[in-house]
Amino acid sequence: MWALILHGGAKEIEPDKADFSRAGCKAALVAGRDILMQGGSAIDAVEAALRVLEDDPTFNCGFGSALHEAGQVEMCSGIMNGATFDVGAVSVIEGVRHPISVAKAMLSEEVILLSGPGARKFAADNGQELCDPADLIVGERPGAHDTVGCVALDSHGLLVAGTSTGGLDGTKVGRVGDAPMPGCGYYADNAVGAVALSGDGEHIARMMLAARIMRGLEHGDPDSAIQTALAQLTMIGGEAGAIALTPDGRFGWMHTSRDFVVAMASSAAPEPHVYLNQTESTR
Ligand code: ASP
Repeated sequence: MWALILHGGAKEIEPDKADFSRAGCKAALVAGRDILMQGGSAIDAVEAALRVLEDDPTFNCGFGSALHEAGQVEMCSGIMNGATFDVGAVSVIEGVRHPISVAKAMLSEEVILLSGPGARKFAADNGQELCDPADLIVGERPGAHDTVGCVALDSHGLLVAGTSTGGLDGTKVGRVGDAPMPGCGYYADNAVGAVALSGDGEHIARMMLAARIMRGLEHGDPDSAIQTALAQLTMIGGEAGAIALTPDGRFGWMHTSRDFVVAMASSAAPEPHVYLNQTESTR
């Protein structure tokens, strides 16, 4: 049994941009799914899926990231192994093509999160693809524009969660949101489930939303776990969307943003299912 679900961000997607979001999520899903179908690892599947989204200027990660107040790109990414509790994360990293691959390389380190120039040095020292920071800036984005995340279960029972983001448009230089922080923007525990989020990062972090969803997963179904946590987020404001996966391969996804594009596939239903929002999925 294997399963993978990913999202292209919690936000409002303009109707004429929706197809870009759907196509990007579908391509990413296929990249991750094909690894799982061949018996590959959930770590590789999450990385492969998020790399596709980092290459697609439709999404706010990698190439096409949001620009901070000084007009530059700083990115954050995190990945977690639900068997070992290893976490690899980078924040405010500049000039790398694939933050998720840098985060993955961090999984074997004692340190869980590197930031800024130290994160880029780690990327360089570990053979990660570097680039001119300006090469990540896209003039006119073809579609929607938001953070991405992915959770996967492989045929060995490993659950993995990953995120990648360019942060928020016009934010402060050096700002870190929820995306690289375990328990906030993502978490994975083979015995409980895996979760990844998008939305207002400061709100998500203050409520430790991934941790709240994990707590809900211990006792309930994934949709209810997310719904309960999102209701708690609403108490302090901010909107978000979350995807979740249980150890027995059940999907959950919910959002308080108008849209939250998701794509999913599993060994039970390997053809990609892509939805712009919950309303579309129940039609
Ligand atoms: N959560 C991300 C952040 O705060 C942004 C997003 O999901 O759109 O950096």
